[in-house]
Amino acid sequence: MEKLRYERPLIRKLESDMPNKFGSRTEFLPKTHIDGIAVKDLINDYGSPLFVISEKNIRETYQSAKKAFTTRYPKIQFAWSYKTNYLSAVCNVFHQEGSWAEVVSGFEYDKALANGVSGKKIIFNGPDKTEDDLRKAITNDSLIHIDHLDELYTIIELADEMKQKPRVAIRVNMDTGVYPIWDRFGFNYENGQAWDALNKIMRSGKLELVGLHTHIGTFMLTAQAYGTAAYKLADLAIGIRNRYNHKIKYIDMGGGFASSNTLKGAYLPGTDTNPTFDDYAEAITSALINSDFEPGNLPLLILETGRALIDDAGYLLGSVISNKRLSDGRRNTIVDVGVNLLFTSFWYDHKITPAREFTHYVEDTVLYGPLCMNIDVIRENVSLPLMNKGDQFVIHSVGAYNLTQWMQFITLRPKVVMIGSDGKPYLIRESESIESITAYEKMPEHLKSFKL
Ligand SMILES: *Cc1c(COP(=O)(O)O)cnc(C)c1O
Repeated sequence: MEKLRYERPLIRKLESDMPNKFGSRTEFLPKTHIDGIAVKDLINDYGSPLFVISEKNIRETYQSAKKAFTTRYPKIQFAWSYKTNYLSAVCNVFHQEGSWAEVVSGFEYDKALANGVSGKKIIFNGPDKTEDDLRKAITNDSLIHIDHLDELYTIIELADEMKQKPRVAIRVNMDTGVYPIWDRFGFNYENGQAWDALNKIMRSGKLELVGLHTHIGTFMLTAQAYGTAAYKLADLAIGIRNRYNHKIKYIDMGGGFASSNTLKGAYLPGTDTNPTFDDYAEAITSALINSDFEPGNLPLLILETGRALIDDAGYLLGSVISNKRLSDGRRNTIVDVGVNLLFTSFWYDHKITPAREFTHYVEDTVLYGPLCMNIDVIRENVSLPLMNKGDQFVIHSVGAYNLTQWMQFITLRPKVVMIGSDGKPYLIRESESIESITAYEKMPEHLKSFKL
């Protein structure tokens, strides 16, 4: 039998936290393995901190999202939102599952092409498409979602110059009952901008209007907002049909579905409150099915959901550096994971669990990262067992946005490992090194040497 570890006794005042209706949170149940591989071994082999992505989880989550829609609507297409996580191995899991690519910059566009996605299956969103980007997208027959009138006019000029008929949609923003409205992208529905842009496209005769797009927000906690949005897009599509006898091919509802994370300040855990894929699918598909599209001629429904498909597949493993007491006596644990790696710690109270069994003693703890910055707080208040220097832990549901918004700051970014569906670990991104960082720097001749 393994010798039990000594844990110092603790005198503890009565629980000061407000329990929710399920009692106090029990976040101290350990996460010892990820897809059958011990956390201890992963850290041993690849270092700490370490990002780990579960291929199995991605595929299962994708399948359940797909099922929620295909059981309700005849024509469904997912497009993977590159900015949510554009590690190529991750993108390719989605492409293997059948997802197209959804990109919001020239860089992401090139990445999708390099991953082997055909230009016809790349959806090009975003407010900053350069003329070169647009030329490339037109040549490759990609789906260009127009954000503003300047872009619309540029595309019309390019269509003339290139003697091609670009396939376009417009991005529409609208009041869905959730505020503030994300009205800085695309054309507004209520004030007539969207209808105006559609008329300009149709009257130019130079573009092929193939779809209508919206992306109403992110981490939307009201599924019905999507019903309202789908209804408004359907209304525009019917307007175009009636006026020009032109049928659009698809309605693209964007992304924004909530993942299972818990937003800061939420009363109940996200797993208990956030809408499910079924809730979102029901709202969107019933709006489309109940609209004036002819039965048997419904448009393709495209979904660009990002966060909800990848968050749970991502883990961030780390180790304790030290324990201290703050001036008010609170326990303060310093860990080797900083906010530079965990951008989403500004929005979420991430679930954090130790990587081995402890006794049931827990203490309210502030978790600090290793950066020399006061804002480097991973959790302001988390109930954790008495982890000591070297003890390992797992931060859950970090797959979305952290691997694209992470910063090289003070420390180097760590390795990323994917645990394949075969249960084996694969290194999918190397850790940074002094060489990889300085490779981009240039030294002017007169600064090359100095004497101290
Ligand atoms: C970011 C983004 C998405 C993905 O959003 P999630 O909130 O991660 O689902 C989809 N479409 C567009 C246009 C986006 O900008």
